[in-house]
Amino acid sequence: MATFDELKNELFYKPKHAVNVITESEVTKADAFCEGYKQFLNGAKTEREATEIVKNDAINRGFEEFDPYKQYKAGDKVYYVNRDKSIILAVIGKKGLNEGVKIAAAHIDSPRLDLKPNPLYESDELALFKTHYYGGIKKYQWVAIPLALHGVVVKADGSKVTVKIGEEEGEPRFVISDILPHLGAEQGKRTLSEGIQGEELNVIVGSRPFRNDEGSELVKLNILKLLNEKYGIKEADFLSAELEVVPAFKADDIGFDRGLIGSYGHDDRVCAYPAAMAAFDTENPDYTVITVLTDKEETGSDGNTGLQSSYLKYFIAYLAKANGLDVFEVLSKSECLSADVNSAYDPTFNSVFEKNNTSYLNKGVVITKYTGSRGKGGTSDASAEYMGKIRRMLDEDGIVWQIGELGKVDAGGGGTVAKYIANLDVDVVDLGVPVLSMHAPYEVVSKLDVYMAYRAFCKFFKQ
Ligand code: MN
Ligand code: MN
Repeated sequence: MATFDELKNELFYKPKHAVNVITESEVTKADAFCEGYKQFLNGAKTEREATEIVKNDAINRGFEEFDPYKQYKAGDKVYYVNRDKSIILAVIGKKGLNEGVKIAAAHIDSPRLDLKPNPLYESDELALFKTHYYGGIKKYQWVAIPLALHGVVVKADGSKVTVKIGEEEGEPRFVISDILPHLGAEQGKRTLSEGIQGEELNVIVGSRPFRNDEGSELVKLNILKLLNEKYGIKEADFLSAELEVVPAFKADDIGFDRGLIGSYGHDDRVCAYPAAMAAFDTENPDYTVITVLTDKEETGSDGNTGLQSSYLKYFIAYLAKANGLDVFEVLSKSECLSADVNSAYDPTFNSVFEKNNTSYLNKGVVITKYTGSRGKGGTSDASAEYMGKIRRMLDEDGIVWQIGELGKVDAGGGGTVAKYIANLDVDVVDLGVPVLSMHAPYEVVSKLDVYMAYRAFCKFFKQ
């Protein structure tokens, strides 16, 4: 006769802290894996930088640039870059494409402040940039923190300049001002979401005018002169630029035990990095494996570098065509892990979570059956059959996993790229890493969860 505890162990579903499931040596491996991840976070703060880093890594690991008209053989490794802002990695499998492909899809854009097309102005002898925020942010979190500027400017002659300033020791940084508390009584009456408004997210970029008692806009003029000397640009060149203001923080270990990582941009580099590493570490897979690191997820996946565009489908179509197949014959047999984050339970703000259906830091990768809002609106709801398959896959290799919804049913909602991939007639479910303070300038994840994501993608590609 089993004791009640034994019976509970057998019958109950109770996710456990990963340290109580995995070996000490695996904890060490997870910590080591995350050193590489921290480096990636510091180097890849924008989709363009992430694309560049992954592309160079791919080349170093023997991936070749994709030739749409070449017929590839098992074991071949290719990469395809879409407009410098998204990248696909593929390792050709032994099975025919008519048996489908395995796709891991993560995104490499993160919430941030973009410069407006005509950003530079002078006000009361300060030079500032106007911004237009990108993705879902709490605007008040972006004031009074050190900021850096990343991106590209295409000049009148068509040449392109890369800008990255505010990251290295000794470089200047930028900042958005806030009202001092002493004079904050009026601001304090605003609701939190209006505490700082969009048109108040103005970045201070200079304060010294030319030495002259006469004339106006001499600070702006001085800043433009500096920009012209450094980058060769004029004011009109901002119009053909993509300049992104991001936090100037580096990734850090968090806590006395160093179990967590604090950083800008975990959503969704925390899945993009493990998915890319899994692609790099997959040799001679049975199925062709495809990792897509996409752009524009945070603004709804619209645009030609987002997954509502056809670039992933076209990539697979070229592979299919070279093998005498139509793309739908490949897609209909394919499977995908939509590699995106979910919200981690926050003990301080626990009222928005439903404890039995939320993910926790350190309890492994989170499988999110569906996202959406207002009664599963706007989501792909993974089938019982596919959920069953993914569960078995993870359990087989002792990969620590949990399930999660974003929060309480009526508390809000969200979405991922899963539905756009599902619309291609592919089986898909969200699998990723729980994140604390998601979309904040400084988000938090658990190292053990990051490593479990890597193991999950490796296993998915190998099975
Ligand atoms: Mn995301
Ligand atoms: Mn997001």
